[in-house]
Amino acid sequence: MNNKITIAIDGFSSTGKSTIAKLIANKYNYIYVDSGAMYRAVTLFAKNNNFVSKAFLNIEELVNNLENITLSFNFNKEFGFAEMFLNGVNVENEIRTLEVSQLVSKVAAISEVRKKLVAEQQKMGVNGGVVMDGRDIGTVVFPKADLKLFMTASADKRATRRYKELLDRGDNVSFDEILFNVQERDRIDSTRKDSPLIKADDAIEFDNSDMGITEQFDRICALVDRKFS
Ligand code: C5P
Repeated sequence: MNNKITIAIDGFSSTGKSTIAKLIANKYNYIYVDSGAMYRAVTLFAKNNNFVSKAFLNIEELVNNLENITLSFNFNKEFGFAEMFLNGVNVENEIRTLEVSQLVSKVAAISEVRKKLVAEQQKMGVNGGVVMDGRDIGTVVFPKADLKLFMTASADKRATRRYKELLDRGDNVSFDEILFNVQERDRIDSTRKDSPLIKADDAIEFDNSDMGITEQFDRICALVDRKFS
C-alpha cells in the first residue's frame, strides 16, 4: 500500500468532523480539505450576486456563472490551517455565518455545483495523503478511500457546539435558530437526489455525543495505524 492513505470523514452537521480531521492531518502530515467550505464559498458567491436568498434560488443564473468561481485554500501559518479564498479573496469568516448556513444546503443540492466541486476535490486527493471531510466523500468523491468514518451525535449536542462556536466569534444568534438550522441542513442533505448524505457501507460509525476529542483522536489514530501494520 502507498504509505500515504486517503481518509474520508462524513457525517451530520456540526459533529466535529473538521476538528478531528485537522488533528489527524497534522499528526500524519497529510493535507486537510474542508469540502463544506467549498460549498459555503459557492453559496456566498450566489448570495452576493443575488442568485440565492431565503426566498428564492436562481439555479440557471448560478449554473451559468459557475465558471466565474475560482476556489482555493491558502495555508495560514499563524492559525495553522488553510483558509478558503473565493476569487482571490479570503472568505474564511464570511462563509461561517448563520446566513450562509441557512442557504448552503439549497445550493449544495444543485448537480452542476456538485460536479464542479467533486472534480476539484478529486484532484486534491489524487496523490493520497489527504483527510477530507464532508457529506459524500466516502460515497462519491473517494469511494475507494482507505479509511472511511461516519460521524454522528445527538442534534442537541451538535447545536450546542455550533452555538458556542458562533457566540465565540461574536455572532448574535439564538440556540433555537442554530438547532433548527442543524436539523434542517441534515434533512435537506440526506434527502437530496444527487449524492445524499448517507453512510458508506464500509464506513466506521462514530457517535461522539459523549466522546471527547482525545478519545476520538486516539481511536481514529489506531484505525489509521492499523492500515500500515
Ligand atoms: O461541513 P459544513 O457543515 O461546513 O458543510 C456545509 C454544507 O455544505 C452542508 O450542510 C451540505 O449542504 C454541503 N456539503 C455537501 N457535500 C460536502 C460537504 C458539504 O453537500 N461534501
